[in-house]
Amino acid sequence: MSFSASVLTLYPEMFPGALGLSLAGRALEAGTWSLQAIQIRDFATDKHRTVDDTPAGGGAGMVMRADVLARAIDHAAPAGDPRPRLLMSPRGKPLTQARVRDLAAGPGAVILCGRFEGVDQRLIEARELEEVSIGDFILSGGEPAALVLLDAVVRLLPGVMGNAVSGEEESFENGLLEHPHYTRPQEFEGRQIPEVLISGNHKKIAAWRREQSERLTKDRRPDLAAAHPLVK
Ligand code: SAH
Repeated sequence: MSFSASVLTLYPEMFPGALGLSLAGRALEAGTWSLQAIQIRDFATDKHRTVDDTPAGGGAGMVMRADVLARAIDHAAPAGDPRPRLLMSPRGKPLTQARVRDLAAGPGAVILCGRFEGVDQRLIEARELEEVSIGDFILSGGEPAALVLLDAVVRLLPGVMGNAVSGEEESFENGLLEHPHYTRPQEFEGRQIPEVLISGNHKKIAAWRREQSERLTKDRRPDLAAAHPLVK
């Protein structure tokens, strides 16, 4: 069974977007994963196909209606659908590589993309949506966030990445940022590739990379360094 993504959005034309190209695009064509973009507006009932309304209590902007969204979700994921239901939201738990891995190991995801000020709180509770944030900044809509999440998940699906090893050595996989990379030419604007990397001594190379990785993590992400059992 392949990973199945259903995305609820006011802009289905944004999908697959960037995920139709490169690794993710080839995997989509090969059937390694599937993507269904569902127009939320199709579940409105009035003649203007209204999906939002003014916020209770007043204030700026509009709020997406619980009743319309509930119909869209129930259509995309009828009772018994095993896939987690996610809401892209700056108030959500920040997305991590660990959560991405969990999702990639599962049956897929139903992803709701917010617009305007966000969605009615009762919908989040009634459909038990897991709020997921991609970072401490505000996007104009959940669609780019959904694309980011799916990109991170799809590349982990079996057979998507040519060289499976590279996935395991990357930043975050072992709780550290990755070491720097170099390739030919040997000299670039007077800068050489570090000697050790052309030594052919694999033990030394591994030790150098590990040291670089720890140093970078300490400098740039003291939070990760502090959480790591082996970094002092
Ligand atoms: N008023 C809201 C922001 C709404 S932004 C607030 O202050 O919290 C509109 C939509 O964009 C949101 O409903 C959400 O779906 C999406 N979005 C914005 N920033 C996001 C982020 N950092 N991560 C995930 N989704 C985000």
